[in-house]
Amino acid sequence: MNLVTYKAPTMAEALAQVKRDLGRDAVIIRTRNRRRSWPWGWFARRDIWEVTASAHLDAPRAAPAGRYARDPAADHAAGKTPRAAPSQGGTVTEEVGEIRRMVEALLSMQRASKVPDALPRLQEFRVQLVRQEVAEELADEIVAELSMGLTGKQLAEDRFVWERLKSLIEGRVIAGEQMPPASRGRARVAMFIGPTGVGKTTTIAKLAANFKIRESKKVAMITIDTYRIAAVDQLKTYAELIEVPLHVVLTPGELAQSIESLRDCDVVLIDTAGRSQNDRLRLNQLCGFLRAAEADYVNLVIAAPSSRSAVASTLDRFLPLGVNGIVMTKLDEAIALGSVLNVAAASKMPIRYVTTGQDVPDDISPADPARVAQCIVEGSLYVV
Ligand code: GDP
Repeated sequence: MNLVTYKAPTMAEALAQVKRDLGRDAVIIRTRNRRRSWPWGWFARRDIWEVTASAHLDAPRAAPAGRYARDPAADHAAGKTPRAAPSQGGTVTEEVGEIRRMVEALLSMQRASKVPDALPRLQEFRVQLVRQEVAEELADEIVAELSMGLTGKQLAEDRFVWERLKSLIEGRVIAGEQMPPASRGRARVAMFIGPTGVGKTTTIAKLAANFKIRESKKVAMITIDTYRIAAVDQLKTYAELIEVPLHVVLTPGELAQSIESLRDCDVVLIDTAGRSQNDRLRLNQLCGFLRAAEADYVNLVIAAPSSRSAVASTLDRFLPLGVNGIVMTKLDEAIALGSVLNVAAASKMPIRYVTTGQDVPDDISPADPARVAQCIVEGSLYVV
């Protein structure tokens, strides 16, 4: 490991040098504050911060290097654009904000830990979480919590720390109630909303097939996605294959009537048009349908490979519409599962189902927080 020591009058400046020279994956090995006396007596004493850092650490020892562990060389070979070096990208304000946040996080970890010199170890875990696409603020929060209550001996034991880290992640992912269909009386109504192309229709087909074939439930589907002919056709094809009725409705009034006419079903699954989260008019129309449906389950569908900004914008627009659960799709296409944790933490909503492929009805399962945590810690695949 190549260690370099940077000196500056403030910790922020020293960290800025580290970041500039070694990149954002640099691992802080040691920080020291020294007071220096100047020989001429003009300035009696001056603070000097020393930060010793290494360009990066190898994957943490206890965590097997998973298929999705980030490898810049492999990324390059695969033609993926590497993350821009900090000096090339981002504005100065963003840089300063990030450095300030990093300093605060490091200092709070240092304060929280009862173990002297715990920082390098804690930094290792933070790097692993960020590599798995966990939001940096969330990674800081988890590592700060990890640092509390660990003794020096425990901190030195890889297995112990990784297990603790897993349970901290698991605790932040709430598994959702599994939308049990009604056994009699009014049908349970489940609506699926979210941006275009995230997998709403496919998820509905998977659930309809599972409820009908595996649980022998009486299932019906409704679509209000009449903007795209192809979308109706897609659901029609599934409805014929699974042999369940499909209603196509145009207005909130028709939706209410349709649900009423299906009251002897156990479960009614409603597909919606893939509203772009930027399309306010269509979001307003969706609100009308949501009010008319009085759904028991309003599921926001989010694709795991979506960018952090796309997820933030989706949550912003759709959560206020009365969402009470999340479905995370395309876990098989995500390079890391941090997004599942990010969504769970940001939305505070239960994750009801995850989907892991295009196959109907197989590639869907109830979310398993322990497995999500394990995948994040190990950098491994979520296998159903
Ligand atoms: P919608 O616009 O939200 O209804 O999205 P669709 O259900 O039409 O799905 C869009 C595309 O994503 C289709 O090609 C699906 O086969 C695909 N898809 C859906 N779920 C998954 C999944 O879990 N994994 C993968 N790899 N593809 C999926």
